[in-house]
Amino acid sequence: MSKQKNHTENQESASVAARADVPFQYCAMPQIVERTFTAEVAPNRQELIILFGNKWLNGTLLHYYFFNEGLWAGSEAEKAVVREAFKTWKTIGIGLEFKEVTFRSEAEIRIGFLKGDGSWSYLGRDILDIPINNRTMNFGWDLTRSPREIDTAIHEIGHTLGFPHEHQNPNAGIVWDEEKVYAELAKPPNRWDRTKTFNNIIRKLDPSAVEGSNWDPNSVMHYPFGAGLIKSPPEYMRGIQPAGSLSAKDKEVALKFYPLLPEQEIELAPFVSIPLEVGIDRQQNFKVIPEATREYNFATFGLSDSVLGIFEKIDGEPRYTDADDDSGEARNATLRVKLFVGREYVLRVRVYYQQDEKVAVMMW
Ligand SMILES: [Zn+2]
Repeated sequence: MSKQKNHTENQESASVAARADVPFQYCAMPQIVERTFTAEVAPNRQELIILFGNKWLNGTLLHYYFFNEGLWAGSEAEKAVVREAFKTWKTIGIGLEFKEVTFRSEAEIRIGFLKGDGSWSYLGRDILDIPINNRTMNFGWDLTRSPREIDTAIHEIGHTLGFPHEHQNPNAGIVWDEEKVYAELAKPPNRWDRTKTFNNIIRKLDPSAVEGSNWDPNSVMHYPFGAGLIKSPPEYMRGIQPAGSLSAKDKEVALKFYPLLPEQEIELAPFVSIPLEVGIDRQQNFKVIPEATREYNFATFGLSDSVLGIFEKIDGEPRYTDADDDSGEARNATLRVKLFVGREYVLRVRVYYQQDEKVAVMMW
């Protein structure tokens, strides 16, 4: 998302209505394929799967990499803006960690600065499906052209953390003047076709994809809009301008999904099953110290929707090794991973829906 483009100091202090002629340049997220479910997956279970399905296991250390040559490379000044945006998210106290790396192969988040290609990021864990030589995030305009462009970077990182567009929140009750929106976005600087405008603005999100029932027009995940695009609520007919940076609700939602939890790592021993708690803030972390170098199996027991992730501790930092998510499927999350004696691992488990009364995890 970009704030107002090319604005002068005068425009900065002007009212939203007076800014209506200033073209906004918007984030264009790659299209998300919506999940479909078999008839056995009950609606309340589907809601939880949609809400949590793209979020990271809490405590994950996400590595980010800047392309440093060719068309995708950015300036040092632009990289500094993005680094500051990662810091902004971390400063609110979330349990995720961010670290810049210089090798593409080590990075889950790969950032390009291809001008004219729009600003975008894939959503949450979907970035793991992107081939290693491709970008998972791009900044398509100069992030140093205004101090508020840091919000563009905060917004794109928000997508990487699994947060969708707030102006597509079905609870917002926004009624668009759709033809005007299509016409506006077809113009420069965006030059979007109708599909892109539909997917990024007009389309309402599945109610399950948004946390809570309130709309937050100040969210950093909300675009600003000029006058004449919104028919209702009437107070937004003259346009809408989020306050900038993370709103109070952005912080609250981020901390709900990724609370800063102490690493209460119970040691997992072979063939000892450990009962699991259910809920997004009930993620459990287990220490795994292999007694031999061999393939180990990990699995949940009991019908549930769970994510299992194994991380190797390298220089004290947990590095993602493998994960499995059984949500919406009639099977259990399982992992088969070769572990090495003398090394230490962490197994993270999040159960977000349970059908059976008891759910447990075991290693063998
Ligand atoms: Zn966006």
